Amino acid sequence: MARKPRIAIIGGGIGGLTAAVALHRRGIEIEVFEQSAKIGEIGAGLALTPNAIKAYRALALEAELTAIGFEADYQVVRNWDNGSVISRVPRKGIYTREFGAPYLTMHRADLVEVLRRQLPDRVFHLDSRCIEIETSDKWARARFADGSETEADIVVGADGIHSVVRRSLFGPEAPRFTGCVCWRGLVPLDAFPPGVISSDGTMYLGPRSHVIHYLVRGGQLVNFVAHVESDAWTGESWTQECERSEVMETYAAWYEPLLRLLGSADRYYKWALYDRNPLDRWSKGRATLVGDSAHAMLPYIGQGACMAIEDGYILAAVLAQIPDDLGGALAHYERLRMPRTRRAILDARARGQEMHLTSRWAQLKRNVKMALHHRLGGDKTGIQLGSFYAYDVAADPPPSLAQVSSVKTRRAGSSRP
Ligand SMILES: Cc1cc2nc3c(=O)[nH]c(=O)nc-3n(C[C@H](O)[C@H](O)[C@H](O)COP(=O)(O)OP(=O)(O)OC[C@H]3O[C@@H](n4cnc5c(N)ncnc54)[C@H](O)[C@@H]3O)c2cc1C
Repeated sequence: MARKPRIAIIGGGIGGLTAAVALHRRGIEIEVFEQSAKIGEIGAGLALTPNAIKAYRALALEAELTAIGFEADYQVVRNWDNGSVISRVPRKGIYTREFGAPYLTMHRADLVEVLRRQLPDRVFHLDSRCIEIETSDKWARARFADGSETEADIVVGADGIHSVVRRSLFGPEAPRFTGCVCWRGLVPLDAFPPGVISSDGTMYLGPRSHVIHYLVRGGQLVNFVAHVESDAWTGESWTQECERSEVMETYAAWYEPLLRLLGSADRYYKWALYDRNPLDRWSKGRATLVGDSAHAMLPYIGQGACMAIEDGYILAAVLAQIPDDLGGALAHYERLRMPRTRRAILDARARGQEMHLTSRWAQLKRNVKMALHHRLGGDKTGIQLGSFYAYDVAADPPPSLAQVSSVKTRRAGSSRP
């Protein structure tokens, strides 16, 4: 019988940890190399749509996520200046019926902690900044800033949008600045009198800008993210703090109850938004990519982390099923994942334009479409994302060796590097 492979995962974010849990559940030996001194996440919210929850269900984590998450009754879209409702679509219960799982919002740190707890401490190597990957048909090797290195049957780059693994495998290519900046903050719900802040998932649409807010940590905290088109700042750090006045000046003319929320955070973080063009391959030799390193996308359809979660599950399923042909398994993983993630990158770009329309006439057409879509037989999301939500990683047909060999044959004849 073939030996179980040993996998080195570079990056302990949501993508890397999900891949680690999925592989560990299948009895595959893993090690996680994270550049930070601890496994953790920044203080911000995250929306996990039904497709991601189904992946975690398949990893027996749904109950833990339900405990840390929040399921809103409605998804509401409002106008920026007077708060009038453009659309109000039921979520709670309906999404489970339509898409097979709930839509949960949560604190990133809570999710990361759930994932970390599934893994023994011995798999983590902290303060391990990868600087280079070397790979062949039989092994892959990661080198670290402190001069150490590790060799594994497979190296998985889960090191985010500025991925060193991606650069090492496919050469340098700068991420694309999208001309958008966003601010985020968290505020305790009990900082407001009852009824001031809706517990619905809420989005305000304005010219060249939108703001979303939703509850996290079982409903205790309100998370907001305010997006605006601007090229005044291009830094991209998850931990860049800024002044409250920056946010309040930008949104001064917006709906007053929303301003009460935006003005109430203790800390404000900002970052510029980047994405990348889809790659035409993710793997080389015995190294591959998951999450933002493979397919960094704009957050406008809320699928970046959800796709990373799906990647982790599928990668583990494919490697467990084809342990005696790991190169073929990586080619098959790519084949399963690339079309869907490519569509997510492109849809997120298009959605950004639709959200930030400036012409009154175009806004009116968009608003009427949003208001009527789910009532006139469109999908039940109100924002036409049902085809993403309906997907179930665990139901994806298991790869057959015949499928894998045909992928290998095509790859051998390919002129790509
Ligand atoms: C404003 C905003 C809102 C978003 N909202 C949502 C949402 O609601 N739903 C959703 O699905 N997605 C959302 N996303 C996208 C989501 O945050 C990302 O897609 C997701 O975090 C990607 O996870 P990852 O593990 O691939 O990368 P990351 O989260 O970037 O993690 C990478 C990890 O690798 C480590 N690392 C980096 N380089 C190295 C190195 N050289 N060596 C070792 N370790 C390294 C990092 O320290 C980090 O721990 C949002 C994004 C933004 C910007």
